[in-house]
Amino acid sequence: MRFQENYIKQPDANISPTKHKLQKKKLQRLETDLLLDEDSGTESGVSSRSILKEQIESFQNTCSEIAGIKCVNGEIVENLPKCIEKAPCGIADCVKQHELSHAKDVTMLFQSRLGRHPCRHKDGIPFADGFDGFGEDFVGETGEDRTWKRFLIRSERKAYGVEVRCLREMRRNSKERLCRRALTLEASKAAFRRFLAAIGKNPGV
Ligand SMILES: [Zn+2]
Repeated sequence: MRFQENYIKQPDANISPTKHKLQKKKLQRLETDLLLDEDSGTESGVSSRSILKEQIESFQNTCSEIAGIKCVNGEIVENLPKCIEKAPCGIADCVKQHELSHAKDVTMLFQSRLGRHPCRHKDGIPFADGFDGFGEDFVGETGEDRTWKRFLIRSERKAYGVEVRCLREMRRNSKERLCRRALTLEASKAAFRRFLAAIGKNPGV
């Protein structure tokens, strides 16, 4: 690969600057791909890639727990199970963004309908850490079960939209093929759930 670098540094005088730039880009891409292949051939490459492979497989095959939102110190925050927290390739961040989208929605609904924060009493005193009974509270205080159900579906559609965009961006920025493949799968699952919510079905989570 050294000869490629030399070539990049000493462009042929007959090649136009634009063409040279394009060729340089093409070669850099080629070099990145070769490096990725080389990674899997070296000893450290094998171990780091096989660790990543294990992390991805463990997440895909054994993580069936569900993320949510809960109260901590009178604030509404994401509640990620350990196996989601450990999800590789940026997947954990995207699930967190999904949950924070719910947190924003629930906060707005409670402020407008109940005149209080979802994690605090009307006098501002915070609930105990770990509280997550937002649906029970809303229905209990308004008696509007259907409003809550409709709210949840709308909120899921938004949250899955946020998650899909996050996963696709992670994939665009990832140079690791194992991650790109895992992110493609996660994005398609999230996109399907967003679709379910868009046609009025509760996709869950
Ligand atoms: Zn959700």
